[in-house]
Amino acid sequence: MSVHFFLPTRVLLDEDCVRKNASLFKEFGTKALIVTGKHSARANGSLQDVTDALTAQGIGFAIFDKVETNPTIANVREGAAFAKQNNADFVIGIGGGSPMDASKAIALLACQNLPDQMLFTGPYTQQILPLILLPTTAGTGSEVTQYSILTNDLAQSKTSIATPLLFPKLALIDAKYTSGLPLRTTINTAIDALSHAIEGMLSTKANAITNLLAEESIRKIVRNFSNLLNGTTDASCRADLIYASTLAGIVIAHTGTTAVHCMGYSLTYFHHIDHGRANGLLLASFLAFAEKQQPEAIRHLLNIMGLEDTAAFRDVLNRLFGEKEKITNEEFQKFSGLAIHAKNIANCTTVPSQDDLYNMYVQSFS
Ligand code: NAP
Ligand code: ZN
Repeated sequence: MSVHFFLPTRVLLDEDCVRKNASLFKEFGTKALIVTGKHSARANGSLQDVTDALTAQGIGFAIFDKVETNPTIANVREGAAFAKQNNADFVIGIGGGSPMDASKAIALLACQNLPDQMLFTGPYTQQILPLILLPTTAGTGSEVTQYSILTNDLAQSKTSIATPLLFPKLALIDAKYTSGLPLRTTINTAIDALSHAIEGMLSTKANAITNLLAEESIRKIVRNFSNLLNGTTDASCRADLIYASTLAGIVIAHTGTTAVHCMGYSLTYFHHIDHGRANGLLLASFLAFAEKQQPEAIRHLLNIMGLEDTAAFRDVLNRLFGEKEKITNEEFQKFSGLAIHAKNIANCTTVPSQDDLYNMYVQSFS
């Protein structure tokens, strides 16, 4: 057996974990930069909890609340300039994957002068502002990954900065912040986490520990399918989903993602389809494709989910996602041409050709 496991992030998942652990903030410095989106952190109480904790500890802070969904390079450069102006010595990212990923890039760019052509490749020096992350969606797992995924107009896609420097020092995870998440976002983000766990199990980098975590994550999500379908997302459902999302984040920190994610990036870039929905629309076709060469691996995944076959999986996802976007075959040709060059393709245990990607797109939207 060969296992490589590395998680330098301290994970505290607990009700009221910000208030209970307020004294930890003092370990990070005397001036925090809070990075968040435009509205939700104010509405769900997370921003107030953090500013109360900082004030109680006598720590100053500045708030950069301009993170867009699917943040651009310009957006994070603006945040890094704001961090420097405010002499921040650590960064607290609050929100879904967009603010968490933006806060990682801001922490890096506040310390390193990286032109656009070096941003995704490095080389990086060791300098970065220490990071604390608080997820308020239950999907990306960014609070435990070394990735910051930005909209990259040069590649007409989304591209990741991937370096161990980006692992947060601390993840503070409290399901209560997700209690008011609209059902649509709850579904999209839950399926993003499911996609991370499934893709992690179908990655060449999977190992015994990541498979254990992925299986647990899948079970927690699948047992809430009926809640997601009925819109009955109570506290125990929310607790399952955020736990599952963090587990799946730990999985992809080791395994990376596969064809589903790089195919999904075009759906987001060109059609503004939410990240989790984009993955979810493609996931059943990817399983059906992989099944031809790895029938036992797919049977095992279906067993974990308590589903008969990939058609049953497609059926659940279709019911969760409703009517699909209209996309032309010409666009699918273009998207498969872009996706085949993504680095995620090499992670697939069954490697698709460009034609396979095209067929998966067509099947997913038919
Ligand atoms: P998001 O883009 O962060 O947020 C989507 C929407 O949800 C925003 O309008 C946001 O509002 C709102 N929202 C957030 N928390 C809320 C809450 N508690 N209640 C009500 N509304 C809330 O969505 P996401 O799906 O979490 O993140 C997607 C991003 O993560 C993509 O850029 C994707 O590429 C990236 N990602 C990163 C990783 C990784 O490992 N780093 C993994 C997967 C995906 P506000 O704007 O007002 O906050
Ligand atoms: Zn994802």
